[in-house]
Amino acid sequence: MVRTVFSATLQGLQVKFVNVEADVSNGLPMFHLVGYLSSEVKEAGERVRSAIRNSDFVLPPKKVVVNLSPANMRKRGSIFDLPIAIAILTALEEIPEQSLKGTVIAGELSLDGGVRRVSGILPIVLEAKKQGYRRCIIPMGNLQEGELVEGVQVIGVKHLKEVCKVLKGENMQQNAEDRPNAIMMLNKASYPDFADIRGQHFVKRAVEVAVAGNHNIMMIGPPGAGKTAIAKRIPSILPPLTLDESLELTMIYSIVGKLNQDFPLKTERPFREVHQTVSQTALIGGGIFPRPGEISMAHKGVLFLDEIAEFPKNILDNLRQPLEEHSIKIVRERGEYEFPAEFLLVAAMNPCLCGNYPNLNKCTCTTTQIRGYLGKLSQPLLDRIDICVEVPKVEYDDLTEEIREEASEAIRERIVKARRIQWERYRNCEIKANAHLSIKDMEKYCALDSEGHKIMQQAYEQLGLTARTYHKVLGVARTIADLEGAEDIQGKHLREALTYRTMDAKYWG
Ligand SMILES: [Zn+2]
Repeated sequence: MVRTVFSATLQGLQVKFVNVEADVSNGLPMFHLVGYLSSEVKEAGERVRSAIRNSDFVLPPKKVVVNLSPANMRKRGSIFDLPIAIAILTALEEIPEQSLKGTVIAGELSLDGGVRRVSGILPIVLEAKKQGYRRCIIPMGNLQEGELVEGVQVIGVKHLKEVCKVLKGENMQQNAEDRPNAIMMLNKASYPDFADIRGQHFVKRAVEVAVAGNHNIMMIGPPGAGKTAIAKRIPSILPPLTLDESLELTMIYSIVGKLNQDFPLKTERPFREVHQTVSQTALIGGGIFPRPGEISMAHKGVLFLDEIAEFPKNILDNLRQPLEEHSIKIVRERGEYEFPAEFLLVAAMNPCLCGNYPNLNKCTCTTTQIRGYLGKLSQPLLDRIDICVEVPKVEYDDLTEEIREEASEAIRERIVKARRIQWERYRNCEIKANAHLSIKDMEKYCALDSEGHKIMQQAYEQLGLTARTYHKVLGVARTIADLEGAEDIQGKHLREALTYRTMDAKYWG
């Protein structure tokens, strides 16, 4: 007789439900798995048979056929092990068919019948709830993650025997001590603090503005000036995630299988540093069955590229689309996948090979070498960077002077205030921060008075701004005004915003 278990898997960010049908009949003893399966799923047969035997069930010498449908969808991974075993046991009448109603089952099996953790459980449980399923049976290792979804019963299991007991309605006690209370573990991790950075007030201010409005930022300066140290302190000033953002981010980490088992909810904005050797797939996502890459793992947080000029040009070019659209599209023969990738780009670079340009007394590079080095950054990429700031070597006086530098907490407070103003202002639209304002939005939110127009006109001519950079300046000025709590953009806000563009002309003009 044929018995069906409901299961699910992921295609990109999309949850696809899969019916696992088992048919046990008299005939030549055999075990057959069909349904457009990848090799990992084909191997499930071995695992499932061992797991069933090691769970004190007898597999009679009969013909067993398992079919995974819909047939036109390629199935991969080990997530179907458990539903396959349950479908067979139900067909063997070890489990009442009635118990499968409204239940989604997912999990990998080990040969001894143990149920192992799988990736992607959060989106699956969320979608199961949306589709009206009443219960999800998942690996105990994924329980915390599954329980983030309210309004659907989520049961964590450690062994195939346990699943059978649950389905037979035998009283099962979830051992509460197995799972620490998620909320109680909410405490902010400690990060290095801006108080450690002596001097560099101009750079710190630029970073504050960048984070406050989500403006991409580039730091340029000689080696040893502290660019990396400054970047690594950015996590300490990032504003808190909203609940929606937190869930969105947790989904991505669920798919890549990078959630903390005991405390799965992502409660802090990510800070992802990628190295020059990063592959295109690791950076933007991809693979035969596309998975999110670093840019999606940096979603709602920071992507840090140290020594950006050392990255291969084709790798950097990949960043253009996500920087513009805040998501990445990966096209495959079987469809298009889209992953969110709304990150703040923080980049650092030396001004030349020796690192001393524009100090011509010290720089040993030829003009051609300098041009070649700076030219590694394409104009389209530079256009997507709102703030460009020079990080000079720290003056001796700054190093020795006895002053207390401002701590990250104080900077963070100002940033949170400025973000609140933005959330409030853009409450009814798609915009989340000033960096996302379109040219059209700017007419509405970045109006200038006559003094403002005069300043911008002058700058346009003197700094050789393009239409694009002109609007970048406006957006940054909006953020500076928000940091001050000012309703209108004033001359001083524009003047400060313009200082973050003077580098363009100096290095790339
Ligand atoms: Zn040089």
